[in-house]
Amino acid sequence: MEDIAGKNFKVVIVGSGPAGLTAALYAARADLAPLVLEGPEPGGQLTTTTDVENFPGYPDGVMGPQMMEDFKKQAARFGADVRYGTVDKIDFDKRPFRLSVDEEHEIFADAIIVSTGASAKWLGIESEQRLRGRGVTACATCDGAFFRNQHVIVIGGGDTAMEEATFLTRFASKVTIIHRRDEFRASKTMQKRALSNPKINVMWDSGVDEVLGDQVVDGVRIKNLKTGEKTVLSDVTGVFLAIGHKPNTDLFKGVLDMDETGYILTQPKSSKTNMEGVFACGDAQDSHYRQAITAAGSGCMAAMDAEKWLEDKAEEATAAKTESVA
Ligand code: NDP
Repeated sequence: MEDIAGKNFKVVIVGSGPAGLTAALYAARADLAPLVLEGPEPGGQLTTTTDVENFPGYPDGVMGPQMMEDFKKQAARFGADVRYGTVDKIDFDKRPFRLSVDEEHEIFADAIIVSTGASAKWLGIESEQRLRGRGVTACATCDGAFFRNQHVIVIGGGDTAMEEATFLTRFASKVTIIHRRDEFRASKTMQKRALSNPKINVMWDSGVDEVLGDQVVDGVRIKNLKTGEKTVLSDVTGVFLAIGHKPNTDLFKGVLDMDETGYILTQPKSSKTNMEGVFACGDAQDSHYRQAITAAGSGCMAAMDAEKWLEDKAEEATAAKTESVA
């Protein structure tokens, strides 16, 4: 990172999921020599998933981490500089924008593309936080193999919960899905796949009252949300959260317009934010579709919007110069 400290880039891309790396590919091919700062989770959420079956171009599916490696390689091939580094502060008051990276280095950017994605949500109960990393996790791909021949629970009723529960049956002897309502919101195909798996069972209308255990998880207390009845599953050793995501946009609070949950607002049919020269794409601005393919598409839009904006600025500057000479 030292070699680029103090350097001014035409475009800096903050975040390296499908949105950021697609923006990098397009910006690189437009000769903008973009810098991508990967952030705390290089490759984004797809690096914590297994098979991706719905990204066009991969008829046999592809592993999430592999796909992100492919994205990165393709962007680098055209000159994108993709680096490990987390932006911790941005001074939006002056042009070029000043970015602080890893609380250590400063770099400058004419335009910024925000592709910081989203992160897993937690229940927020004390026992969950205390036992995080000790049996409580939000990543089945990362941690599933630790639970061979054990009973684990998955919390949630969306596609992620179905996918993770199904994946966990490769290792666990039993997977119980805990869902707060009496029906899933997951797509029918994913539900069917999970519910037809003999290792998976469901506790409907239920929530986790407490994760039990001192050093590691050694049970969970489940509460039926309709009757109030509590049940202890004393053989559970793994608790997998799959209750959705929160956009990683704290860095931009008070500067970029956001909705009430923190998703960045962009202008219709555009990646433009309320701040000139700042563009947003991917899950940081999409609370609705949240797919790799839509994130990639919006990354392409952001790079094209940034390119056009930089071009217009350069033309304005040339015109102003000509006028002052005349
Ligand atoms: P979703 O927001 O779709 O689902 C979250 C689930 O968690 C819901 O069932 C919700 O319950 C439950 N939940 C939320 N908060 C709490 C809480 N505090 N306590 C208990 N339960 C809670 O998130 P997903 O991560 O499942 O999916 C996100 C997007 O990604 C979706 O568009 C999905 O289709 C997509 N996806 C696609 C995949 C694929 O096609 N292969 C794989 C994974 C995700 P309730 O239903 O009551 O609101």
